Amino acid sequence: MADVICRGCRGRFHETTAAFDPEVVATGNMFALKEPYRTWRWSSFPERPEHKLAALECPQCGVPYPDVAGKVLTTAEAKAPAEPKPPAKKKRAPRKTTGAKTKQASRS
Ligand SMILES: [Zn+2]
Repeated sequence: MADVICRGCRGRFHETTAAFDPEVVATGNMFALKEPYRTWRWSSFPERPEHKLAALECPQCGVPYPDVAGKVLTTAEAKAPAEPKPPAKKKRAPRKTTGAKTKQASRS
């Protein structure tokens, strides 16, 4: 099962269930509220087939999970990198000091 990525807040509060099929119209039974939100009793849409599309709102920001085409963004599709890599530190090549001693920049 994959995480559902909210288009509004980029949060991941639901995961897809075995019923999830990216090719068909998204319905509530395709999603399950993840832990710890379930334990925290976050109010969310009923996980039932009669709730669909715009009713499938993010419990955090209220933006529907499906876009206008009915597509739901999941981690299975997004293939987000597991961990954001820290920017590679650029190693500065030591400056060549050929003749630096003799050639001093004169500021005048
Ligand atoms: Zn959201």
